[in-house]
Amino acid sequence: MTIKAFGYAAHSATTPLVPFHFERRDPLADDVTIEILYCGVCHSDLHQARNDWNNSIYPMVPGHEIIGRVVAVGPQVTRFKVGDHAGVGCMVDSCLTCEPCEQGQEQFCNCVPTFTYNALDKNGQPTQGGYSDRIVVKERFVVKIPDGIDLAGAAPLLCAGITTYSPLRHWKVGPGSKVAVIGLGGLGHMAIKLAKALGARVALFTRSPGKSEDAKRLGADEIILSTDEAQMGGAAGKFDLIIDTVPSIHDLNPYLPTLAIDGTLVLVGYLGGLEPALGTVPLIMGRRSVAGSLIGGMAETQELFDFCAKHGVVSDVEVIKMQDINEAYERMLKSDVKYRFVIDMASLKA
Ligand code: NAP
Ligand code: ZN
Repeated sequence: MTIKAFGYAAHSATTPLVPFHFERRDPLADDVTIEILYCGVCHSDLHQARNDWNNSIYPMVPGHEIIGRVVAVGPQVTRFKVGDHAGVGCMVDSCLTCEPCEQGQEQFCNCVPTFTYNALDKNGQPTQGGYSDRIVVKERFVVKIPDGIDLAGAAPLLCAGITTYSPLRHWKVGPGSKVAVIGLGGLGHMAIKLAKALGARVALFTRSPGKSEDAKRLGADEIILSTDEAQMGGAAGKFDLIIDTVPSIHDLNPYLPTLAIDGTLVLVGYLGGLEPALGTVPLIMGRRSVAGSLIGGMAETQELFDFCAKHGVVSDVEVIKMQDINEAYERMLKSDVKYRFVIDMASLKA
């Protein structure tokens, strides 16, 4: 017996997402079965639905910012019971035996973690994501949702939140740190909120002058228009950490001199080769680094939820119907989202 599921899928890089019936695996002893209530819309969903990374498996049900209600648990499940709220992010499995897995950094599993969609599970079956009514996931990859947190606003913590929280923690951001964020979208707005909640002074680099007021409301102390050379020059030597969330190829060179000595620019957005080439002078003349980061481990994701519940942090969301997903993708491409679309999965039944 398998579980019947219903969602929206992409069938090719050039066609819109459409309704799709499919099957989930039979729950195993350590599986949690979740009825999905909300699913965030990440720019990675769009990249993969449209095969931007040349690795897309169709049909594809995207979605890796999943919040729902537990409807069944296997006999080995200890942390969840029926009725609990539960979250699923970008991974649903990993080898669990390599060094990164043992250290709780499942995202860097030596065998590559099993991603929530657009991947093959250990049995070679395609995984399917959260733009759907239910999902079956190994308990280790399910997050407990603290009581009282807004469920729609919490969904984006599972990707946008953890992807920005993990580098903030890794580079030890706290009171006195100076952090800058490039790009005010889903990841960028979470980076501002989380850096602020950790006690840092926060700046935003943006191409969009119209986002200044929002950025301040979200917690930014300073807004730097990245297209204005004078403003860029004025930011020289300032930041201990820059989180770069830009999804497409862009020139990093103007940002490097804005790092303080020993500062790091961490790429979380763009995946691919950089052009134009990086000038090494600001790196050498200041021991500056360029780094990358991928989501976060499961323990760190749980830590993020507990941190957000304590500090009252959730995402600013525009709740949409499942049927609006194709339009939402077009708006995301135009940076027209404040600041994360979240699908209300009740709309699937309409
Ligand atoms: P998003 O909501 O579309 O936001 C991206 C923001 O980047 C835009 O709002 C815009 O901000 C800025 N931007 C867009 N195009 C730009 C360009 N050509 N040049 C300069 N700035 C540009 O996207 P998102 O959901 O935050 O995702 C951002 C990226 O992170 C995606 O590529 C996604 O795949 C990736 N991602 C990575 C991880 C990871 O683990 N590393 C996890 C999740 C997502 P302004 O208008 O303020 O300039
Ligand atoms: Zn994502």
